[in-house]
Amino acid sequence: MDVPANKDFAAKAHALLGDKGWTADAGAMEPWLTDWRGRFTGRALGMASPADTAQLAAFVKLCADHGVPIVPQGGNSGMSGGATPDESGRAVLLTTRRMNAIRRIDAQARTATCEAGVILQVLHEAAEREDLRFPLSLGGKGSATVGGLISTNAGGTQVLRHGSMRALVLGLEAVLADGSVFDQLTPLKKDNRGFDLKQLLIGSEGTLGIVTAATVKLEPAIADRRVLWAGCASLDDARALLLIAQDMAGAMLEGFEVLPAHSLRAVLDYLPDARAPLADEHRWHALIELVADSDSTDRLGPVAEKLLVAAFERGLVADAAIAQNEAQAEDFWKIRESISPAERAIGPAVQHDISVPVERMPEFVETAVPALEAEWPGTTAIGFGHLGDGNIHFHVIAPPGTDAEAWYAADGKTISREVHDMVTRFGGSISAEHGIGQLKRSELARLGDPVALGMMRRVKQALDPQGLLNPGKLV
Ligand code: FAD
Repeated sequence: MDVPANKDFAAKAHALLGDKGWTADAGAMEPWLTDWRGRFTGRALGMASPADTAQLAAFVKLCADHGVPIVPQGGNSGMSGGATPDESGRAVLLTTRRMNAIRRIDAQARTATCEAGVILQVLHEAAEREDLRFPLSLGGKGSATVGGLISTNAGGTQVLRHGSMRALVLGLEAVLADGSVFDQLTPLKKDNRGFDLKQLLIGSEGTLGIVTAATVKLEPAIADRRVLWAGCASLDDARALLLIAQDMAGAMLEGFEVLPAHSLRAVLDYLPDARAPLADEHRWHALIELVADSDSTDRLGPVAEKLLVAAFERGLVADAAIAQNEAQAEDFWKIRESISPAERAIGPAVQHDISVPVERMPEFVETAVPALEAEWPGTTAIGFGHLGDGNIHFHVIAPPGTDAEAWYAADGKTISREVHDMVTRFGGSISAEHGIGQLKRSELARLGDPVALGMMRRVKQALDPQGLLNPGKLV
């Protein structure tokens, strides 16, 4: 490491960003150098927290002049190690924590313009105050930031109806590798001035630019909702239930999630106050949300009931409950949103965020689970999540008492390769919503379409010729 050059850089960074915006203190940086899952730990030359876009742009320019790599970080809730620097200590961590202003909510246009560091839950609350809502939610909403959500093209539990982050971003502001500011914050319904560069930046995981602000779409607040919990004998039955829900509820269907018995038990062990929504055990559970705006509230209850009656009549559901009030609806969702931490508390596991065509998901799970458990005795394979989007989180949990590091290095890696091979055979994706980061970079290189990978590498080379933006991630 070139120490005098670093000292010179650090002094300039400090002069530019001030005490609030620059630190090289190991203790201050330490909590931000390990990813949420605890799989990756890195080192950094310093941590920059710019106050605004102009300061961030000047800092990126400084990094470009000194050849210093930058790792952008929002809430550090990402699942692919994308916000963690490598172990060289050459990179700076650039956090958007201080850029957390909601610049404007336009209630008539139903848009919010906010800075990259705004936390998702804060955006939800701000929209609610205007009788609006931002229709994207996920378990990490208390940490995940607008910039992180955009950079990973996050999904969550409402994609079925509203799409992922790509569909919700109407305008974008970002700083490019040379410090220039890309400003397309103004939302235009129609704009055919060439490539959709904003979409190129969305989902690029900080490798093409640093998102500094965005204008996002808001929807009217829902007037009422019904949250249903159904116990099913198989994932096939849950899939048939999804089709009935899509037919009968139409646009009222906001979310359709599934969880196996194992995940429900894990959450009940993890959350002492949580209670199982149904009295008996079921192999699979479906969590369904139906919503209504002000002129369809009358239909909501009858649709929910008719849907369940039809499912019972066809033998798809063994038992079901409709949340009786908002508190119970929240309790149902809390179970779903606690699966990740609850599974994490069980012990080491390799996690896969995969998608296959929705109609093939039951076949995928019914093939993959027994095959993996037979090949690696003592492991438990589970799939939970967004069945409505053909996306589940497929975890293979290590045998009890296993040493995490040794298991990841030996069996964990081989298991992941096998899962990804199966997904590829099913015509699916090895990353449905969590991105590639450093976790899946080699797998993308192994399994990705060579033409698509070549295009991505050329775009990266064109926009970041020095390779300073989030090196070692994605491509
Ligand atoms: P970080 O983790 O800080 O960063 C993620 C990536 O984005 C990194 O590559 C980072 O370099 C880059 N980045 C961050 N900010 C910027 C920026 N301003 N400009 C450029 N690049 C940037 N995700 C889903 O999609 N669906 C889910 O259902 C879901 N459920 C979750 C449940 C739990 C309990 C947790 C902890 C996480 C969950 N996630 C889910 C993952 C995570 O919340 C998302 O990936 C989220 O988008 C990460 O946001 P963040 O601000 O924490 O980003």
